[in-house]
Formats: sequence, C-alpha cells, structure tokens
Amino acid sequence: MSKLRQTIFDKSGGYCWYCGCMLGKGWHADHFYPVVRVGGKMLYPELDSLDNKVPSCPQCNMMKSSMNIESFRSTVHQFVESLNLYTTQYKFAKKYNLVKETGINVRFWFEENEKHVKPEHDLLKISERAIIMEWKKDKEERDYYYLNFDDFICTLRRVGNNWIAIAMGFSWEELGRIEIQFGRLEKEKAADWAIKIQEGINSTNQIS
Ligand SMILES: [Zn+2]
Repeated sequence: MSKLRQTIFDKSGGYCWYCGCMLGKGWHADHFYPVVRVGGKMLYPELDSLDNKVPSCPQCNMMKSSMNIESFRSTVHQFVESLNLYTTQYKFAKKYNLVKETGINVRFWFEENEKHVKPEHDLLKISERAIIMEWKKDKEERDYYYLNFDDFICTLRRVGNNWIAIAMGFSWEELGRIEIQFGRLEKEKAADWAIKIQEGINSTNQIS
C-alpha cells in the first residue's frame, strides 16, 4: 500500500467510514465533502486533499457518489420505503417474519466512533465569519442578495449557472467583482471575498 493510501486507511483502522464493514483489498478513498466536477473540471480543487479523503468500501463509495453526507443518509434511509413499495419478495419476507424493520435512524461508522473530518469551510479556506454572515434577499428579484458593510455594499446575483458578486461604494463606484461557479457554498465564498475587500478598505484607511 502506498504511504498516502496507508494514511487514509489508518483514519479508521481499516473500517469503512460509512457502514463500518472491514475493508477489503479494493477499498476506495472517498472525498467526504464531494468534489463536484463540471465539464471534467473540479469545482472545489481544495477539497481534493488528504484531509478530505476517508476510507470507504466500494459499495458505499459508489452509492454516495457526489452526495454530501446528509443526502447520503436520506438516500440509505429511504431504501426501506422503496422495498415496501416496489419489492414483492421483500414484502413476502416481511409477511412471514423473515425480516424485521428496526425503524432506526441511519448512523454512520464515523459518527458512532466519533471520528471527524475538518469542517468544510476550513478545507476551502473560507473564514468562519463568512459562514455565519447572512445575505439579505432582495424582495423584488429572485436570486439577488446583498450584504451591508460599514464602507460598502456587496451584491450577489445569479447569472446563468454562475454567481456574480459586486462590491460597490455608497456613491455606486465599483470596488471589485468576482464570478463564482455554481455549486455548494456560493454565498460563503462570496462573503469571504467581500470580507477581504473590507479588510483591504480598512487597511487603506489606516494608511491615509
Ligand atoms: Zn461501506
């Protein structure tokens, strides 16, 4: 096993991060926070890091695919519902008490064993402050948000598949703009960018 794979393997001591089965030879290194690919290009290359890789059995890895952990949880959870709706053999097995449903919530191995992956915003290098900032939604327009800072306002607007953030001073002069690819955490990325603009403004103010 390569040194890198060994490090990933050791995170769980050889168990699947999700279902907890013992890993066989062909185990997969899963991206805990999915790296979304758009046209072959990784949306969040920062997430293709050792910190974000966990050992998984091939089945869990393929089922999880590009889902985040909560979508994966609800997907697994609703399998029982699907069996009851669509599978005659399962319904018969239940009728004859061959299977019993527990009704328990889906708990993953890493939760049961208190293992953690760093928070996603840490891996993406988005500041904590950017995570908690709340964008106000424009009443008139869909997908149009803004953030108020002391010295300027930052707007965020959806244009096609992307988001455009524009920072404007109070006399409507543009201080900067950034295009953010559609994915998860667009607002957080935009807020992080706006905070950096603010820090820039503040440091300029300090010089003058
Ligand atoms: Zn598994």
